[in-house]
Amino acid sequence: MPIQVLPPQLANQIAAGEVVERPASVVKELVENSLDAGATRIDIEIDKGGAKLIRIRDNGSGIGKDELSMALARHATSKIASLDDLEAIVSLGFRGEALASISSVSRLTLTSRTAEQAEAWQAYAEGREMAVTLKPAAHPVGTTLEVLDLFYNTPARRKFMRTEKTEFTHIDEIVRRIALARFDVAFSLTHNGKLVRQYRGVSESSQRERRMGAICGTAFLSHALAIEWQHGDLSLRGWVADPVGSKAITDLQYCYVNGRMMRDRLINHAIRQAYQDKLGNDHQPAYVLYLEIDPHQVDVNVHPAKHEVRFHQSRLVHDFIYQGVVSVLQEAGAETLPDVEP
Ligand code: ADP
Ligand code: MG
Repeated sequence: MPIQVLPPQLANQIAAGEVVERPASVVKELVENSLDAGATRIDIEIDKGGAKLIRIRDNGSGIGKDELSMALARHATSKIASLDDLEAIVSLGFRGEALASISSVSRLTLTSRTAEQAEAWQAYAEGREMAVTLKPAAHPVGTTLEVLDLFYNTPARRKFMRTEKTEFTHIDEIVRRIALARFDVAFSLTHNGKLVRQYRGVSESSQRERRMGAICGTAFLSHALAIEWQHGDLSLRGWVADPVGSKAITDLQYCYVNGRMMRDRLINHAIRQAYQDKLGNDHQPAYVLYLEIDPHQVDVNVHPAKHEVRFHQSRLVHDFIYQGVVSVLQEAGAETLPDVEP
């Protein structure tokens, strides 16, 4: 076979292999786009675990008619323009790949209206060349992405989808994680026509704690120790469960770096170490932690799905987190010590 440039659809389907693992990955990418667009309300509708329908509607900035086709093109993004931007990412997206990838493995329509436009427009890409068709539509300011029949044209991927229930569980987990990242945004999640989750946007810290409890459960809430730890331009906020709580709670390790949800080994290790002799080897500390760091000090361009980061000064970050958690555990320990008569 001679060397040839792949047609756009096939190139996008290959890229989709890295980013669109299952319906939950579609939800993650689309909700992150809504957040990047400044949405304060995001409604997520799912049918049949996402295999039939994923619809995300937001009240963000919208996309102008002239830019709708670009939004569906690969390597097209409004979020970075230079290497300098890439080295200090402040948005959740930056690869310009999600919409192109998703639309190459589903029937995707993008409907959007900006505040400047009197009417909304809908875009749809199809065929090997992914030619975009535009037509007028009715929609308030903001964007709706509709993804029908995910993986209908990639049977190998479709085969890997699990039951409706399992796929929905993954979606639910992603939505909970994202809802924890942004207390100021209202989210709703509907499955097969039934409202499953609803989180109102909140601002005050007492309300935050209530919403955190709604997402993480009362066991975590009642054992949660609040952290506020600062050093230079590093800041760590959030909650860790005291050792008793951590022993009782499984699988609650939520961590965010500059608002991005992560599974980070370094952070997890630092926290574990802080609990060292307070938890046996069979237990993981439960936590919801938000690390804020100068975006120049962290590389998010490590993995296409963007759930890993690299810290330029990893030792410093590790020790900072360790110290923060140790100090809150010590404080809590001191409080619960029995009073000793002099
Ligand atoms: P990225 O998020 O990496 O830029 P995407 O493929 O996810 O790439 O999106 C492409 C572009 O489409 C974005 O840069 C943004 O300009 C626009 N876009 C996507 N979703 C939305 C949305 N919900 N609201 C406004 N603009 C959006
Ligand atoms: Mg994106």
